[in-house]
Amino acid sequence: ELPEDCPPDSEQLGKATWTFLHTMAAYYPEVPSYEQQRNMRKFLDTFSQFYPCWYCAEHLRDEMIKKPPKVESKMSLGKWLCDMHNIINERLGKPIFDCNKIDERWKDGPKDGRCD
Ligand code: FAD
Repeated sequence: ELPEDCPPDSEQLGKATWTFLHTMAAYYPEVPSYEQQRNMRKFLDTFSQFYPCWYCAEHLRDEMIKKPPKVESKMSLGKWLCDMHNIINERLGKPIFDCNKIDERWKDGPKDGRCD
């Protein structure tokens, strides 16, 4: 691993970015207004143009054409993002994540309270 004060490599950037994206989805409104839905769609479109790992961004844009973002609710956005991340996990040979566990992982923490 690189020292803390080095610029991030694509792995560190990826991990930090997934933390941000999944956390954002976990706090997206259950019932977003049309304006919030429009803005989330715009945000994801802009994000996919400027994500600073160019081959990652290109893959993401390809996948987003096949499977456009689902911004109708917190549930649909969380599931869509989880599916996107799993597509990338599969390509990289990483374990597939159980999308029923996104709130536990990114919002509420495990039931045993070890993260409280
Ligand atoms: P990460 O994949 O970063 O995951 C972090 C944590 O998220 C995991 O520990 C787990 O607890 C949780 N998690 C895992 N899967 C899910 C899921 N499906 N839903 C919710 N939570 C989950 N790397 C490449 O080499 N090639 C690429 O094309 C590429 N594209 C990327 C595109 C995007 C948009 C992003 C954000 C990253 C991309 N990356 C790519 C980086 C890659 O996805 C990983 O972030 C990086 O390899 C570090 O992996 P990691 O093992 O630390 O865990």
